[in-house]
Amino acid sequence: MSDEPELLALRARNATLEGACRSAGICMSCLYGAADPIGCTDCLGTGWDGGDPRSQIEVLESRVAKLAAAVLLFHRGGPWTMDDMKAWEALTGSREVTTKALCDFARKAQA
Ligand SMILES: [Zn+2]
Repeated sequence: MSDEPELLALRARNATLEGACRSAGICMSCLYGAADPIGCTDCLGTGWDGGDPRSQIEVLESRVAKLAAAVLLFHRGGPWTMDDMKAWEALTGSREVTTKALCDFARKAQA
């Protein structure tokens, strides 16, 4: 019974939605409709996972700032110095200075 294709498809869809909500910081309970008549007890009616969007906004702002710094560093021109390498590694977590590494970092920033 638990391996019916429809149930497996629903579980996969739920896992995808959970991942998307977790990534965006959105409250899953609100997405499905709060069961409690006084409102959502998970987000306290804010619609945000944990009840306060500020921490999620700070995380997203930090990702954007690091990505912008990495793009500007990558395209700054001139010879690459050891300080540049240290800054690159601190930003991206990679010692590889390539377009692929920059794109990989951008993909992580989007996640
Ligand atoms: Zn909620």
